[in-house]
Amino acid sequence: MSKDIDWSNLGFGYVTTDKRFVANYTNGAWDEGAIIDDPMVTMSECAGVLQYAQTCFEGLKAYRTKDGKVVCFRPDLNASRMADSCRRLEMPVFPEDKFVQACIDVVKNNLDFVPPYGSGATLYLRPYMFGINPVIGVKPANDYQFRIFCTPVGPYFKGGAKPIVIRVSDLDRAAPNGTGHIKAGLNYAMSLHNIVDAHNNGYAENMYLDPKTRTKVEETGGANFIFITKDGTLVTPKSDSILPSITRRSLMIVAEKYLGMKVEHREVYLDELANFAECGLCGTAAVISPVGKIDDHGKEICFSSGMEEMGPWTKKLYDTLTGIQMGTIEAPEGWIQVIAE
Ligand SMILES: *Cc1c(COP(=O)(O)O)cnc(C)c1O
Repeated sequence: MSKDIDWSNLGFGYVTTDKRFVANYTNGAWDEGAIIDDPMVTMSECAGVLQYAQTCFEGLKAYRTKDGKVVCFRPDLNASRMADSCRRLEMPVFPEDKFVQACIDVVKNNLDFVPPYGSGATLYLRPYMFGINPVIGVKPANDYQFRIFCTPVGPYFKGGAKPIVIRVSDLDRAAPNGTGHIKAGLNYAMSLHNIVDAHNNGYAENMYLDPKTRTKVEETGGANFIFITKDGTLVTPKSDSILPSITRRSLMIVAEKYLGMKVEHREVYLDELANFAECGLCGTAAVISPVGKIDDHGKEICFSSGMEEMGPWTKKLYDTLTGIQMGTIEAPEGWIQVIAE
């Protein structure tokens, strides 16, 4: 490892790495794209992304496995989800096969930044696209830039994942028939005030309800929910305004195929939460964050797994999925993209 990085003390932040990928869309077509050195983006003061927030992104990780390979996890799903985001935002789709190849190329060109196996750290990849030409009348941009940079990130939870306390939010993150199901920057911009307010009041996250009836559970600002019943059924909320988490979709398969759990993907009502034994948030960054308690306007919903550690089913799910990602447990066909042997 030639990079002088203290892998065990990395946080979840941005570190400038050596190389990044950039492709430009002009005159109705993508150029070939290239791996470049310059970490800075230069654009018009009137660029579409700066005026009307025309941008979307993805997030995935590369891992060093026990046997020394470098791999990433289901990048094809990030490619197709980004294509969905682009279509909804009137942006050109970056071809899905080229998206996966560009992810591979970025990692290959930054191999020294892939943290060692066992450090708990990983290399986080951030693909994103934005309207770059001047736009002042409200309309989609004509020209776009697609980039992928990577940054080494520490274990999301240092010293193990302690259960968190979250609150039921009074604000919404998505509108009915809106953009909650795509990975658009705008969904995050509007959630920032609420997350700062949650933190100021001692909560780690906001639980968003369905924006139409406010009776059903959706997700948090950046992670899907998993619930586990007392008899070991995995239940995940279903709604058109939830972002389809790749971690959640993978956990549903892990639960059924590896752990023999029953799996239900259905509407989940706020007033049934007290019946569940375990609760967690899932996403690429943390894999699973256990939730110990939900505050619904002073009414506390406490899970039997408690505030000290992950519940037993959550732990099994976490260990199995991270084992698959790190190469200690055999992966389902097509889940692992080998980047370097
Ligand atoms: C990215 C994201 C997630 C998690 O998705 P993964 O594919 O598992 O990383 C969940 N919710 C929202 C709103 C997101 O933007």
